[in-house]
Amino acid sequence: MRNCEPAGVPDAARYGSVVMKFGGSSVADADAVIRLAGLVGRQAEAQSEDDKPPVVVVSALSGVTDRLIAIAHLAEEGEVDHAVASLRELLERHVTVASGVTTGANQSKALAEVREEFESLIGLVHALAVLREVSPRSLDAVVASGELASSRIVARALAERGIPAAWIDARIVLVTDAEHTGASPDMVATCERAREHIGPAAARGQVTVLGGFIGATASGVTTTLGRGGSDYSGAIVGACLGVGEIQIWTDVDGMLTADPRIVPQPRVVPQLSFAEASELAYFGAKVLHPSTILPAVAKNIPVRILNSRRPESLGTLITAEAQSPDGQLTAIACKRNVTVVDITSTRMLMAHGFLRRLFEVFERFKTAVDVVTTSEVSVSVTVDDTRRLEAIVDNLRSFADVECEPEMAIVSAVGENLRADPTLFGRAVTSLDRIPLRLVSQAASRRNITFVLRDADVPQAMMRLHGQFFEQTPVNHEDTK
Ligand code: ASP
Ligand code: MG
Repeated sequence: MRNCEPAGVPDAARYGSVVMKFGGSSVADADAVIRLAGLVGRQAEAQSEDDKPPVVVVSALSGVTDRLIAIAHLAEEGEVDHAVASLRELLERHVTVASGVTTGANQSKALAEVREEFESLIGLVHALAVLREVSPRSLDAVVASGELASSRIVARALAERGIPAAWIDARIVLVTDAEHTGASPDMVATCERAREHIGPAAARGQVTVLGGFIGATASGVTTTLGRGGSDYSGAIVGACLGVGEIQIWTDVDGMLTADPRIVPQPRVVPQLSFAEASELAYFGAKVLHPSTILPAVAKNIPVRILNSRRPESLGTLITAEAQSPDGQLTAIACKRNVTVVDITSTRMLMAHGFLRRLFEVFERFKTAVDVVTTSEVSVSVTVDDTRRLEAIVDNLRSFADVECEPEMAIVSAVGENLRADPTLFGRAVTSLDRIPLRLVSQAASRRNITFVLRDADVPQAMMRLHGQFFEQTPVNHEDTK
């Protein structure tokens, strides 16, 4: 097997610690929490004597954040009974999980903590229902309970299994600005706090457990980092501590070479660069939002996506720089149902300032364009969000001829190798033989080739590309028709 560790990536053992971030599905119920404890225990055992124990960052139990947001809205509508009944159901779910993963003193502590968290939340929801107003600040206070409760349970579950664990209130570690529901960390302050609060516990040999997604302003007001923000928390804490690796434990095997709903047997991408991951996410690969791991990647800390149900699978390793084996691409992705807009200058040649005027129109209507190709007299762009397309077209028509073609799609082949190996471009185009390609573009990064084609041709195009680059035997075009 090829060596997946590129040069320059620090060895986990050198820094002696790992951040293990568990998503909502990895704490969904008692069985999931027991699996989690097993994984943390194994990681702690695998480390050498001088290594620091892992730092665990957890999401709320799956679905809980959505429920808490719905509860806040019920309060806003004055539906206090309904809101409280929902909270009691959530409390019961947490009680069931906590009882399923602890016994004796651990259990009484876990249950007391969970109850206390929910009792204060019920008080808050009553107050919100009286005010009939839920500001972003109040919403953060409500949803934070999800991660506070899950992390309490996980800390007790670890202790139950003889793993020395310390729960840390993430709000004293993650110092953020006051942009409620989408706060940004103050890295200097956060790193100081991380060393101050996590450091001593780690030195005592304790696994530290923090809720992801949540933080607080310098004056102590609870904030959240935006939906899906637990990955971000993991990366921030990992970057601050300079850990050797950040593990993102989820319910899939890693990033795939293609969307399994389109290509029947995609493979797991063993390793990819941060830039490749960003390109893929842009085209809808959902495993993780690459910008959330930026703090880690910027510090050259590898991020590994792993499946908590199948820990033996190798997962996907994301590093600052990485390269697939020669002659290979990294993955393919697609964005379906986009509209192509062809804009032709009404003068023979593109007048000076044409492009600026054109893009100003898209900008004015806050519509992003994905692919852009230009010729001497015309520009073609693709748009995904067509809500303001009519107005855009009206405006463009004041200085250009405009035609729209709906039901198109973007198929993108991504790979760092595209830069160095010009034959890959040819192979990709050849594999799409006889599929009408509306636009073909390769951006300056030369990390992807993008095809715009009819949405109906997407399955065929994806399977051919996948066959060409990811399957042993090249796909016979006749067979796939
Ligand atoms: N629980 C939060 C959410 O669902 C954060 C996370 O899970 O990453 O958005
Ligand atoms: Mg979640």
